[in-house]
Amino acid sequence: MITMNAFTREPESLIRAELVAVERVLRSGHYVLGPEVKAFEQAFGRTCGVPHVVGVGNGMDAIEIGLRALGIGRGDEVITTPMTAFATTLAILRAGATPVFADIDRETALLDPSSVARCISARTRAIVLVHLYGQVREMDRFRALCDGHGIALVEDCAQAHLASVGGVPAGAFGALGAYSFYPTKNLGAIGDGGAIVTRDAAHAERARRLRNYGQSARYHHPELGMNSRLDELQAAILLERLAYLAEQTARRRAIASMYRGALRNPRIRLMSAPVTDESHVHHLFVVCTEARDQLGAHLASRGIESLSHYPVPVHHQPPCREFPTATDGLRNAEAHARECLSIPCHPHLTDDEVTEVIDALDAFSGV
Ligand SMILES: *Cc1c(COP(=O)(O)O)cnc(C)c1O
Repeated sequence: MITMNAFTREPESLIRAELVAVERVLRSGHYVLGPEVKAFEQAFGRTCGVPHVVGVGNGMDAIEIGLRALGIGRGDEVITTPMTAFATTLAILRAGATPVFADIDRETALLDPSSVARCISARTRAIVLVHLYGQVREMDRFRALCDGHGIALVEDCAQAHLASVGGVPAGAFGALGAYSFYPTKNLGAIGDGGAIVTRDAAHAERARRLRNYGQSARYHHPELGMNSRLDELQAAILLERLAYLAEQTARRRAIASMYRGALRNPRIRLMSAPVTDESHVHHLFVVCTEARDQLGAHLASRGIESLSHYPVPVHHQPPCREFPTATDGLRNAEAHARECLSIPCHPHLTDDEVTEVIDALDAFSGV
């Protein structure tokens, strides 16, 4: 079976380092927001090119806390994409704001800047830009759009660890970035984890309060926060795995090049090629076909797992049907939801396995 992820194939050297780290935490007597979290926050800040990192419970909370740290909440509109994990929208709702869905670009599945521009109203306070599948694109346009309207750019970086454009890493373009360390992400923990990254000391300080009941000094609560803290065990594991991330990202890029170079089946459409190697970290490798379900079944019959990201756009989920959308509709998001299929692209795939996937895709006849 060729699976979407293969966590048990981590290199033996990494597993040994992780076991040492686990024992260190266990014997330290510190379990939540201690020295391991501090060390990971510093190391991840260097990776992301930002001075401030705030470790939190998960990626969804990172977005909610990020928005709340910017003072965004009830009565405010936040523009985002309907082609994302449900958590992106749920975080906007949990912050108290109203999500507004703009359409995506057909070739990249990322938010279309002109559709976003048409969604801006007097109540818009932020754009939550999702670096879907690991791609960072058109940051100059989004930054100019936000600056021009005085609204905040918030990056959902849950799929984009180590992606960068012009030397600027994901999360460092706007007011702040939100990362997830859910196990399937390019940098994953052995449980839940997340982080807010920012260049702004005041935003970071407010996020630190919000993750811990809104507490400023012990037993003093100037505002109502949450309980969303990163624990020592996850931070210690993440610190070890961070050392392997560049190498594993290079492997993802090599696999994606093999797919792009070899796929010739006219029934299968590839997404746009990345503008530069650094701008895409291939969290997912997505192909499109009108016969998506048949392609998934064809791959399964050859022992190859595939998944769809995402088969139901967020504006079609029952709790989200009434929220404002682009006035000219969300046709590209709806078409993409019908056609997209993610094929295995994790860093532990062997060349033989990649070839097997390519052969299976080439043999697909559409029925
Ligand atoms: C995974 C993911 C999230 C949510 O992260 P969790 O850690 O699972 O809460 C948010 N946005 C995107 C794009 C994701 O892929």
